Amino acid sequence: MSITHTIHSALNIFSLEGKIALVTGGGSGIGFHIAQCLAQAGAQLVITGRREEVLKDALPALGTDARNFVNDITDLKSLPGLIADIESEVGEIDILVNNAGINMKKHAVEVTDEDFDRIIQTNLHAVFTITRECGKRMIDRKRGSILMITSMAALYGIDRVVAYTASKSAVGGMVKALTTEFSPYNVRVNAIAPGFIETPMMLTAMNGDPSRRDKAMDRTPMGIWGKPDDIGWASVFLSSDAAKFITGVSLPVDGGNSIGF
Ligand code: NDP
Repeated sequence: MSITHTIHSALNIFSLEGKIALVTGGGSGIGFHIAQCLAQAGAQLVITGRREEVLKDALPALGTDARNFVNDITDLKSLPGLIADIESEVGEIDILVNNAGINMKKHAVEVTDEDFDRIIQTNLHAVFTITRECGKRMIDRKRGSILMITSMAALYGIDRVVAYTASKSAVGGMVKALTTEFSPYNVRVNAIAPGFIETPMMLTAMNGDPSRRDKAMDRTPMGIWGKPDDIGWASVFLSSDAAKFITGVSLPVDGGNSIGF
């Protein structure tokens, strides 16, 4: 057996061939790159989001069997039907990536109750409902991987993102609670906590202010911005058999940010 053959066989452990992956918010930003990396690893992709044209534009890069479902995750009552439709039209979901999320940069004293509710509903409650609907099916089948995209805000305090921080920290807590319940059924639950990643959400949050961008880099030991693919490949790893004994983990993908600053 040649060394190349051995390497290829070893890398098969990262293969997602034959698996169906659902990525919420998979039409743009980090979600699109997660979907693209999962597709490159062999998974059949289903992406969701509110904007049909964005989802349709994303599909060609995700393989001929990729599908999109238009859905607003804040419409909580629609979510059980969404998951049921995906499973009946596409097949059993093996990998769930809860990526869709929103941010809001405001001083805590200026955040209204409506602002707070909107962030919590999108980043936390919808994540719970989608996870519950997929989780019960995965438990029945005794297989599955659930991945939450949280944030460095889940690991330490950042100013002017109080609702966002609350939502992402709560999802980090949810990962631990779900791990205790889902692990006996071979359903793994993990999170990725991205650092500063170059996407429209982050660039908007930075308000195009170069000094804030520089400050972000000063806080990052590697001194560079992350690329959406960095989150994508970490998602492939955590969703694959290479991570079959990893559950309950929040993995920072942040150029060293989480060591503290
Ligand atoms: P973007 O704003 O670029 O993308 C967000 C995605 O979520 C879009 O595809 C959007 O699709 C979807 N989405 C938002 N609200 C809803 C909704 N109500 N229903 C359905 N889909 C929705 O953000 P990023 O790519 O930067 O962020 C992706 C994830 O990564 C988020 O959870 C974010 O918190 C997290 N993150 C990002 C960081 C960064 O540096 N960029 C750092 C840390 C965490 P549509 O608008 O079509 O509905």
